[in-house]
Amino acid sequence: MKHIVIGTGVAGIAAIESIRSLRNQNDDITILGDDPHGYYSRPGLAYYLTGEVLDKTLFPKKRADFINLNFKYKKARVTKIIRAEKKLELDDKTLLAYDKLLIATGASALPLTVPGANLEGVVKLDHLEDARRILKFAKRGKTAVVVGGGITALELTEGLRSRGVNVHYLLRGDRYWSNVLDAQESQIVQTRLQEEGVTLHFYSELIEVLGKSGKVIGVRLQDGRTLKCNILAYAIGIKPRMNLARDAELTLDRGILVNEFMQTNAPDIYAAGDVAQVYDPITGRSILDSLWGVAREQGRVAGLNMAGQITPYTKSMPFNVTRLAGLTTTIIGTVGYGEDKDVLGIARGDSETWRQLPNAIVAQSGFDVNRLRILVGEKTFIGAVVMGDQTLSMPLQKIIANKIDISPIRDKLLSHNTKIADIIADFWSKQKMVEGNYATR
Ligand SMILES: Cc1cc2nc3c(=O)[nH]c(=O)nc-3n(C[C@H](O)[C@H](O)[C@H](O)COP(=O)(O)OP(=O)(O)OC[C@H]3O[C@@H](n4cnc5c(N)ncnc54)[C@H](O)[C@@H]3O)c2cc1C
Repeated sequence: MKHIVIGTGVAGIAAIESIRSLRNQNDDITILGDDPHGYYSRPGLAYYLTGEVLDKTLFPKKRADFINLNFKYKKARVTKIIRAEKKLELDDKTLLAYDKLLIATGASALPLTVPGANLEGVVKLDHLEDARRILKFAKRGKTAVVVGGGITALELTEGLRSRGVNVHYLLRGDRYWSNVLDAQESQIVQTRLQEEGVTLHFYSELIEVLGKSGKVIGVRLQDGRTLKCNILAYAIGIKPRMNLARDAELTLDRGILVNEFMQTNAPDIYAAGDVAQVYDPITGRSILDSLWGVAREQGRVAGLNMAGQITPYTKSMPFNVTRLAGLTTTIIGTVGYGEDKDVLGIARGDSETWRQLPNAIVAQSGFDVNRLRILVGEKTFIGAVVMGDQTLSMPLQKIIANKIDISPIRDKLLSHNTKIADIIADFWSKQKMVEGNYATR
């Protein structure tokens, strides 16, 4: 049996691990990837930009781990899936035959389409090479303008700032990440950015990148203002890499549509990770995620199915523990709704589920930068944002993911001036005793 995986990201590697865990060692597994650095932590790129991690720490696997998995790796770009012959064409025109194929090609940054977008100094953050390019430009005393939203725009802002670059962050609306954070959470992030020396510009839309001798020298805004700068960094959303699937006439929507077995409409072709659009039992819709843990789990399940162990993928409650303006923040479940003017569709480290908030009551408390917001449904919590103090991050992940009945504390939580953190901590410690160890689920 010949298994081929396209893409050396976390979904592709997880698939190989599960195929190898089930199939005969003689089965042929090949992984193809066009990133010269192979498999590394993409979320880690933010910390690489700030200088908190070195590039070698970005690589989660050692050579020996790969040798044990016994697969072939070829650095190549796949240019075509020839479905009728069950073959792939590579950029060097080689043809490779497959029995089972996984498309795990991830997603790319949406391109900037304003005039001047091709000038030297216009940067994005998809790959390790992008991060290295940013660091080449990011010299102390230079000035950058950042556009976009979600986590990556902040990572660009803070990465550049930490390298001594003066940063202007342009927001099209009146606050940061308005369809995930509430107004107070946005305010906390904005205040911290300003304290770090970032200049925020609200209601500000980029319409042109200005250049001289092929290099960025400034930007022009919709209201006629211009700002001088040497770098323009953008993170305006991402788009699943679907070209191969489109040409092969697989069924697509915003991503490659897969069934519960991560299988496309072609029975021998699977898709997983950022490129796949997956049925979400929480919202009843097929949705996109761009989350490391979700991509790994989808890859694992796709691999099991490719290797013959029929295993449904059940989408779990999406969560991300990330850092916003230096503040650790956990986002779980459904917490917001609507559009955010700074991101088209989905961004990195983001989930469409987060923005499917039905009617829910909010229980919240906050002190300084520590803030807890819980979306309270009829009998369960449907989402939470934990900013700063992370004591309740893990308990809330478990309470929400396991849909634990919170009826006993619901009224108390929703009463005025209540200490919701204490109530939840107490509830969680009793739950652990009654129900056994949720932490292992
Ligand atoms: C800067 C940044 C910050 C992030 N922050 C977070 C975070 O805080 N939390 C979180 O959970 N997630 C975060 N993410 C998202 C997370 O990293 C992704 O969800 C995850 O990496 C997706 O894995 P994947 O395997 O689907 O795709 P990818 O990791 O994108 O891998 C796909 C691979 O396929 C290759 N490929 C594409 N087309 C072809 C082709 N035709 N031929 C050969 N190879 C091809 C690509 O080059 C790439 O190497 C972040 C991502 C980035 C970039």
